[in-house]
Amino acid sequence: MTNFDYDLFVIGAGSGGLAASKRAAALGAKVAIAEGDLVGGTCVIRGCVPKKLMVYASHFSHFSQEASGYGWEIPAGKLDWNKLRDAIQSEVSRLNKLHISFLEKSNVELISGFAKFVDAHTVAVGDRQFTAERILIAVGGEASKPDLAGMEHAITSKEMFLMPKFPQRFAVIGGGYIGTEFAGIMRGLGADVTQIIRDRYVLRGFDHDVRINVQESMVNHGIKFHTCINSDSLTISKNASKDESELTISFKDGDGNLQQINADTVLAATGRQPNLSPLSLDKANIEVVKGAIAVKEDSSTNQPHIYAIGDCTNRVNLTPVAIAEGRAFAETVYGHTPRFISHNNIPSAVFSQPEAATVGLSEEKARELYGDRIKVYKTKFRPMFYSLAGGDTKTMMKLIVVGEEERVLGLQMVGKDAAEIIQGMSLVVTMGGCKKDLDNTMAMHPTAAEEFMTMR
Ligand code: NDP
Repeated sequence: MTNFDYDLFVIGAGSGGLAASKRAAALGAKVAIAEGDLVGGTCVIRGCVPKKLMVYASHFSHFSQEASGYGWEIPAGKLDWNKLRDAIQSEVSRLNKLHISFLEKSNVELISGFAKFVDAHTVAVGDRQFTAERILIAVGGEASKPDLAGMEHAITSKEMFLMPKFPQRFAVIGGGYIGTEFAGIMRGLGADVTQIIRDRYVLRGFDHDVRINVQESMVNHGIKFHTCINSDSLTISKNASKDESELTISFKDGDGNLQQINADTVLAATGRQPNLSPLSLDKANIEVVKGAIAVKEDSSTNQPHIYAIGDCTNRVNLTPVAIAEGRAFAETVYGHTPRFISHNNIPSAVFSQPEAATVGLSEEKARELYGDRIKVYKTKFRPMFYSLAGGDTKTMMKLIVVGEEERVLGLQMVGKDAAEIIQGMSLVVTMGGCKKDLDNTMAMHPTAAEEFMTMR
């Protein structure tokens, strides 16, 4: 037993903080967790969970048309945005309460309020102070907008779930995960959508075929694109002459010509950054590099008793990574079973429409590392579902292998159920599997996933 109030004080009750605090308590530590907002964090409250519910909602717009190909005559529906928004918020609220109850059952004390450092072993929450032998920072990140004229008129992903009115004309600035996902969602829900990006294709950093196939499908679904824009020239203004809620986005295109588009709502999906300013990290002399908490492989900071996990460390900013980092920390420190998280070969999905999912290396990265030793297997087809439902949504699948033994370096997919398929298939990359392991796996017919077993 120590002289501190707690063995572990966790700052931030998002995915990483919740996982770490419960695991540490289960291993015998006396744990408190501070949260200034709703318990659950970005993923549960204003990220992955409400986003996925909106993705599901957006699929229904195709329903009557697709069903008609299968002989069903179902009248086209109409979205009640208020009903959808409130239903999502009530699910978020249920999950928030569930996570609070999980903390209670795990004997983790919840302290409501934003925590900040007083010194290296003391944090303040409001006018209360707490000491702890170890402190874990798991404060996540927040959306960042570029410093451009009129950006105050743009909303971020956080406000997307709370929009008072459904915008008929919707514009997105940014071609990353969030911009691409919301462009698809809003188009599916019935808005006129324009996406403004500064590269030629969305999803910079992803496999080139993934980028092209996602964007082609988005265009087929009616999303308009402005590509290769000069982002420094971008401004947003309120259109005073018309409806005062109308916004005008002005920017120079790739040829230097001025372009203007009008929208009811503009989403700035231009990246996220660690949420460090309220923490007074200087009081504990915690090192920050490029706006993120600097950590070692075991998630410890320059102060050996202070740890940081999740988006505030800006390693790989995904919920399952934060959870894995949190549990590895707790098991290493309180379970005496040292364990590090590998940040390689992390599968990820973009819930665009259709979905994109990836694990391991892109073709470009593989070629950079292995040159001509790589081989690429690729297929593109219309999934069976659409043979009656109509539409020209295609599925693209790609397998990247290296050497004579054809070790699998990466799997890429754009299409229906890509996230579910790649999650299962990611095992072959983690286990160092080869093309022959896929060849030796019996295909399951008729599925889309079987294509990975039969590629030639
Ligand atoms: P990303 O970093 O993925 O993308 C940011 C986008 O904004 C890029 O297209 C970038 O362009 C563009 N951009 C940046 N600055 C400007 C500017 N000044 N003007 C115009 N465009 C600009 O960030 P997101 O906000 O989309 O997502 C943040 C993070 O959240 C992701 O990286 C991911 O870790 C996580 N996330 C994961 C999801 C999932 O797993 N499905 C879903 C949602 C979020 P360029 O490419 O040219 O730099």
